[in-house]
Amino acid sequence: MNKEDFPLLHEHPNLVYLDNSATTQKPLSVINALVDFYKNTNSNVHRGIHFLSQKATMEYQKAHEAVADFIGAEAEEIVFTSGTTQSLNLIARMLGRKLREDDEIVLTEMEHHSNIIPWQQIAKEKKCGLKYIPLTSGYTLDMKEARQMINSKTRIVAVTHVSNVLGTINPVRELASLAHDVGALLIVDGAQSAPHLKINVKDLGCDFFAFSGHKMCGPTGIGVLYGKKGLLQNLDPVEFGGGMIKEVTKWHATWADLPAKFEAGTPNIAGAVGLRAAIDYLNNIGMEKIQEQGRELMAYALQKLSLLPKVRIIGPVIANERIPVFSFTVDKMHPHDVGDFLDKHNIAVRAGHHCAMPLMKTLGINGTVRASFYFYNTLEDVDKLISALHNLLNSKMENVSLRNVDKNQIVFGELTEKQEIYKENVLDHYKEPRNKGILKEYTHSCREVNPVCGDVVTLYLNVENEKIQNVSFMGNGCVISQASLSLLTEEMKGKPVQMVQNFTLNKIFSLLGIPISHTRYTCAFLSLKAVHGALKNGLRN
Ligand code: PLP
Repeated sequence: MNKEDFPLLHEHPNLVYLDNSATTQKPLSVINALVDFYKNTNSNVHRGIHFLSQKATMEYQKAHEAVADFIGAEAEEIVFTSGTTQSLNLIARMLGRKLREDDEIVLTEMEHHSNIIPWQQIAKEKKCGLKYIPLTSGYTLDMKEARQMINSKTRIVAVTHVSNVLGTINPVRELASLAHDVGALLIVDGAQSAPHLKINVKDLGCDFFAFSGHKMCGPTGIGVLYGKKGLLQNLDPVEFGGGMIKEVTKWHATWADLPAKFEAGTPNIAGAVGLRAAIDYLNNIGMEKIQEQGRELMAYALQKLSLLPKVRIIGPVIANERIPVFSFTVDKMHPHDVGDFLDKHNIAVRAGHHCAMPLMKTLGINGTVRASFYFYNTLEDVDKLISALHNLLNSKMENVSLRNVDKNQIVFGELTEKQEIYKENVLDHYKEPRNKGILKEYTHSCREVNPVCGDVVTLYLNVENEKIQNVSFMGNGCVISQASLSLLTEEMKGKPVQMVQNFTLNKIFSLLGIPISHTRYTCAFLSLKAVHGALKNGLRN
């Protein structure tokens, strides 16, 4: 449904876009609103007395009002930011100023890095406690633990409304009353809920709510921080400059009224206009309908996915506890390899830790494959995903991840004869990696992490007489990372240190001999980073 409203989906009818949790596609009405703004209204807000500036200011104000209506708030309570990440950083810095030593901040084990790191920083700075509400075995929040954890020391409870990995919908209302009962504030990361659920911040009872425009059909670079008016009025800004002041002297400044006080500098006016168009678009369909459609897709996908052997769904299996975002693992296959295979079948998913490394650690995995649906996805899209996964399960690794891609046209070509030979070699090194293990004696070592998928590798070197006498590595990973490590370690044995230090990524490419997609560069690069790191650092670990 609605696919025809989305030019990119229309242009690529064979594409099954299931990476909506990362960002959604944009309907023509949003694209047109951006073009129209730059063609007919472009001007700065607040500062000009001329007609265009007044028009832009009005459009910008209307965007605040549209967002406020969308989440049941008042326009003054809507602060435009660049996205959820900036919203959460802002609120953490503003509230952080009020925290004292031994105050406690409570998060959950399913947070996105955006709702972890800002609080970690504050906790370190202010010497506050940082606690994480654990998960149940059913991938929901352990509310029994939450009730224990939120106590008289708690000042802040910051939770995601919906997990971007598990799809779990958290009981925000209950968390709000737990927080308020002890005088704490509840901050909600709504990045994944605002696109899917009808939000009313007053009903939710939260004090602050953050979300991004680009995850709900709007443009990138525009997001929202909602805050209760009374609370926003009592907070001091942490960003300063034009547009946010009432009066400035050489030694002092006073702040503008809400929400301008928190919007320093020229805002993303076009982004706000585009976000308003996105909200209009969603309202025309109706958030209830979007939610209803999500439930239908979810029930269907859950049933189909749960029938696949070797596929493990990482998330609740009860449809009304979640949104249609499915993380899963495939037995004995790295998420990157599964993602690449699906890409070959024109199915766009995400693979890795999804910016939730602590959650991955809790789950005891490095990453998952994530298929995230939105209202324009169809049951047929689910069928295509399932059928591709069937192919994957029936195929040997030969079909995984290695192919020639012309990304500009989203078409997949065949490998050349020479590349086919290299492919066999790569697969051989993946299945039977050389030099795997820990050297009995080593002079250098280095532990490296692939920031994209969380894979960890440790490299051991024995260097004597300025030569690499021996080398080995430990750690698991995808086809590309394992084969690169195996090939590179073979290549460097017996070579002078100086020569190895001069190896570049091109060396890995030539050893692999097959084209790899841009996202896999980090997988190939991991081996080289570990080698360079070991030679630079000397004996470690
Ligand atoms: N929080 C959650 C739950 C998310 O899923 C994301 C993005 O994926 C973010 C925060 C960060 O959003 P943004 O990158 O738009 O700032």
